[in-house]
Amino acid sequence: MPTPLGNLRDVTLRALEVLRACDLIVAEDTRVTRRLLSAYGIAGKTLWSYREQNAAAVTPAILERAAGSSVAVVSDAGTPGISDPGRDLIRAARAAGVAVDVLPGPVAFVCAAVLSGFELEGLVFGGFVPRTAGAREAILRTALGRSAASAFYESPRRILTTLEVLQKLAPNAHLFLARELTKLHEQQILGTPENVRCALEQPVRGEIVLVIEGSALEREHLGTVDLEARVDALLEAGLSVAGVAKRLANEGAGERAEVYALAAARKRARGASER
Ligand code: SAM
Repeated sequence: MPTPLGNLRDVTLRALEVLRACDLIVAEDTRVTRRLLSAYGIAGKTLWSYREQNAAAVTPAILERAAGSSVAVVSDAGTPGISDPGRDLIRAARAAGVAVDVLPGPVAFVCAAVLSGFELEGLVFGGFVPRTAGAREAILRTALGRSAASAFYESPRRILTTLEVLQKLAPNAHLFLARELTKLHEQQILGTPENVRCALEQPVRGEIVLVIEGSALEREHLGTVDLEARVDALLEAGLSVAGVAKRLANEGAGERAEVYALAAARKRARGASER
């Protein structure tokens, strides 16, 4: 069953009813759940810890209790089974013939995706961004190449690296970063990887969801094609390579040195085709 992402008032009436009535609460971190229970005056409950590390060991005892009484499963925030323990317990319960039910409630990536304003048809949830450099880059490259948006969970310790990789792969990608949703220091940032990096409060703290708008690489390619066309038009109009670089950089089309290199290459190509 779901619990709030931060703001304790985001608990549903039904979730409170279940917490009050159940015989056992299985919690990812019993201290976090006790805070929620105490905020709503729910006392005298039995809590068992269920984490990735002890899941296999405690599952048989949980299923035994669930066979004869009602057991509520909660994670630290949001809905159990979404990038946190829960899924294996549901599968084990089904396999053991124990009935399972779900209560609808908050999920961090859904809230962030909705806030992004991006087209969400076909949205892909990628879980946590991988920690290792190769896997991280591969996953981000795939997300950038998708036509649909992708949402990821990310740690405050690694978000700057992830943004650097995105900047390298697709500097014009449209991103939305939601930090500390529903909490006192909530931050929402919309923009390119560079915009998001600069706007992030540092040192980076808290819980983060990163949403990448779909078709990022396609747009990057279209941007290049468009820039090439503008460079060609200005060269055709008689501007020098330096003049083209200055003009387009002033218009915000790119870094002056990069536009210069592109204009020089286009001029060479035009010269070759005219010979
Ligand atoms: N089960 C949760 C759900 O339904 O969203 C997610 C659990 S996962 C272990 C925790 C991650 O969710 C965090 O590292 C962060 O990426 C994201 N998250 C959780 N709460 C958040 C919040 N208030 N604001 C932004 N992201 C949040």
